Amino acid sequence: MSSQSAQTENRAKFSDEVRVYGHWIGGRETPSSPAVALESRNPATGMLAARVAAGTAEDVDAAVASSAAASKNWAALPPANRSRHLHRIAAAVRAQAAEIATLEVAETGKPFPLAMVEAEGVAEYLEYYAGVVRAEHGQVIERGNGQHIYTRREPFGVVGIITPWNAPVYSAIRAVAPALAVGNAVIVKPSEYTSTTTLRFAQIASEAGLPDGVLNVLTGAGVVGTAVVSHPGVGKVSFTGSVTTGRIVARLAADRLIPVVLELGGKSPHIIFADAKLDEAVEAAIAGFTMNTGQVCAAGTRLLVERAVHDDVVQQLVAALEKKNLQESLGPIITEPQYRKVNDYIDIGLSEGATVASGGKLEDATGAGNFFVQPTIFTGVHNQMRIAREEIFGPVLSVIAFDSEDDAVDIANDTNFGLVAGVWTADMDRAFRLADRIESGQVFVNTFGSLDVETPFGGYKDSGYGREKGIEALKEFTRVKSVWIGLRANPSEAAER
Ligand code: ADP
Repeated sequence: MSSQSAQTENRAKFSDEVRVYGHWIGGRETPSSPAVALESRNPATGMLAARVAAGTAEDVDAAVASSAAASKNWAALPPANRSRHLHRIAAAVRAQAAEIATLEVAETGKPFPLAMVEAEGVAEYLEYYAGVVRAEHGQVIERGNGQHIYTRREPFGVVGIITPWNAPVYSAIRAVAPALAVGNAVIVKPSEYTSTTTLRFAQIASEAGLPDGVLNVLTGAGVVGTAVVSHPGVGKVSFTGSVTTGRIVARLAADRLIPVVLELGGKSPHIIFADAKLDEAVEAAIAGFTMNTGQVCAAGTRLLVERAVHDDVVQQLVAALEKKNLQESLGPIITEPQYRKVNDYIDIGLSEGATVASGGKLEDATGAGNFFVQPTIFTGVHNQMRIAREEIFGPVLSVIAFDSEDDAVDIANDTNFGLVAGVWTADMDRAFRLADRIESGQVFVNTFGSLDVETPFGGYKDSGYGREKGIEALKEFTRVKSVWIGLRANPSEAAER
């Protein structure tokens, strides 16, 4: 039997056994109208993982009506009460993190420990925003003249949150937690390939006592996302995904004059100077381009190496990669089109004249049965090649030699993106200079890869705008209102004047 027909047989065998998930609207599972389901498959095995409702514009109407109704009472709660809700949900998520991670593995094929980090991250975000929202206040503005002036931070009402497949519920929580904390009701539209963890999260939140309608989840393809952004009842959108779809979402939002947070792609450079601790830099470079099989917007996919240590670094990279046996810890590429894209880029790199120093296309790169690829390191890359300019979203690293600090900065900034950069050097003056000069939302110096909640995260240039994480994200989900109160003078004092 060919692996293709084995896969078909597996699909048939398991197709009757997976459940069909409805949307989560108003605190209960709700079928789509009309009932049509989309399938998601485990890219490690080809097996059917779930069927989810293929949402429609009517479903979006129902979800927005539910969220709008819930948003008033939710916004009126004192922050301390909303905080207690978030803490309760966080505790429930911690208790059920393994279940969430298992669902995620079934849809993404990623290693269980990574899925657990993401599931526990969901609890971490809820705990953080449950805390900081209690310390977030408006201002009093002193102007004298018998006026008391203050600002209020008010929620938008209903916030739409559209998320991708690479870290499904973890991407969602980055917007959900701050948006809820400040009093918005939210509607999440997860990727059609990975909906189940977000649905399960909403169910857990309801079971933990979150009022009905405060968190709704609509599943389906891009048309559901479009309908969410276009809906007159939605006041703000947070989008994480590709640049192409980000532009569409931004245009739709511009027509309605509503604000958007866009967290898009990257082609992030790691810069290694000759004076750096090379072993640590090499370790970080490998983690940077292989984490989640390179399916991360912040992946470090361009490695800029000072020419004096170029060959040494490449040798260490290849040796470290081979020693690591990453096959155990790398998951597959999410879908067949994405898998083909990664393999196509390996061909493109070769045709552009780059050299494969490690990895390359697997001999059996047919995609039948599973979508695994090898981490691939290209050398002899220059920054005008497509493999150095375009986001591949797979574990493919382009190594580029540079000759001076200015040269490194020019190459690092010669990109449409601006999400993350890494700098490796023993010269701290140079480290600060580069941190200033690099055009990206995050710069790591002599360290890399943090999933912390506290630090604002977002892009420059085509990597998007607006900020997630930290206190900044709380601000994203509120509007500032200034209030002037005219103060009459004390009548007896007025009489004396
Ligand atoms: P990715 O390659 O990360 O899946 P997308 O940007 O296509 O990138 O998808 C991210 C999210 O955007 C998914 O939830 C997807 O369903 C949604 N989406 C896709 N097309 C549209 C669209 N035209 N309008 C709104 N949302 C969309």
